[in-house]
Amino acid sequence: MPTLLRSFIEVAPESHFSLQNLPYGIFRPNDGAARAGVAIGDLVLDLAVLEEGGYFRALDFGPRAIFAGDSLNAFLALDRPAWRKTREVLQHLLAADTAILRDNHALRARAFHQQKEITMQLPARIGDYTDFYSSYHHAFNVGTMFRGPENALMPNWKWLPIAYHGRASSIVPSGAEVRRPHGQIKPPDAEAPIFSASRALDFELETAFFIGPPNQLGEPVPIAEAIDHIFGLVLMNDWSARDIQTWEYQPLGPFLAKNFCTSISPWVVTLEALEPFRKPLPAQDPPPLPYLRAPNDFTFDIRLEAQLQTAKMSAPQTITRSNFQNLYWSMAQQLAHHTVGGCNLQPGDLLASGTISGPAEDERGSMLELTWRGANPLQLPGGETRKWLEDGDRLTISGWCEGDGYRVGFGEVTGRVVG
Ligand code: MN
Repeated sequence: MPTLLRSFIEVAPESHFSLQNLPYGIFRPNDGAARAGVAIGDLVLDLAVLEEGGYFRALDFGPRAIFAGDSLNAFLALDRPAWRKTREVLQHLLAADTAILRDNHALRARAFHQQKEITMQLPARIGDYTDFYSSYHHAFNVGTMFRGPENALMPNWKWLPIAYHGRASSIVPSGAEVRRPHGQIKPPDAEAPIFSASRALDFELETAFFIGPPNQLGEPVPIAEAIDHIFGLVLMNDWSARDIQTWEYQPLGPFLAKNFCTSISPWVVTLEALEPFRKPLPAQDPPPLPYLRAPNDFTFDIRLEAQLQTAKMSAPQTITRSNFQNLYWSMAQQLAHHTVGGCNLQPGDLLASGTISGPAEDERGSMLELTWRGANPLQLPGGETRKWLEDGDRLTISGWCEGDGYRVGFGEVTGRVVG
């Protein structure tokens, strides 16, 4: 594919949604039902309209309409060859020198919507959700805070991708308000816990990937085939109540501290779109067990940042910059490990990275790390400070790959805290 594949739709160089990207989402126009679309520039191309018009007929999806529903699950359940062919059809239809859609003004009027005039929904019905803990620097920072640098990493951390099973029902699309949770908190100097609104609300800068075709119960996915089960990625904010977490997490891990809200970005960026930004996975020491070893395992160069805007601030402030390459464990390793005991994954399941922190102080992916548990509050323009998120604060995560004159981006995941 040439670097600068051009569309007849205008796409600014800094737009996240170039012809090289074409991320999938579920949108609802003001005058109709939810259906699937791809983002291009400031527009959404309506895949249900194209499907109804017979433009995917050559792909032989079968008799069922797969883009007219309110989730991508039917599309996710196909396979990589089908996803690749769909992408080829869409890139051809949108190319500057293809007349089919470009010159059909009646079809163009029906098939394109302005992104600012539609509502984005969750891209899939998420059956199960798992959150990993795969950034070395995040695990090291948090471990250092609680146990000191000598014992920062648990003995298992470099042998297996640590994770917990999360709660799928409280995953919300970008833009949804985040209600501050109440729960049990034990102040450090108190004898007994109190019931209170969380006083230590945090964000976690993460990515997450959607599962495509399933594996059967009892049949692990070999690491060499893991990528066949991954459709694409979104940005995620794993909102966390640190004070509730501190009191509840031992011995079984996070529970109410994490299950009140998890926000994801609405556009799913495919592995095909990310391919030009692929990087080899750095060597791991100790070498992982054979079931976690793949000869050409990889990561992606995806720039990530988080911005905070309080109710008093006139513009958002970038508070951290990170990169997907800061993850120690690869997606293939996470998936292979998740299924190695026989666990079955299903189309629409979501597997998240864990907080992605880099080595530097301004590359930390949570308030917990940025303020070092509140010891070094963030200094914000206008003189405000923050140890944790307060009511009225808006937290926005964005991410993109920088191509030569174009971007493959995720857009953003944003949410405002309300009391
Ligand atoms: Mn998390």
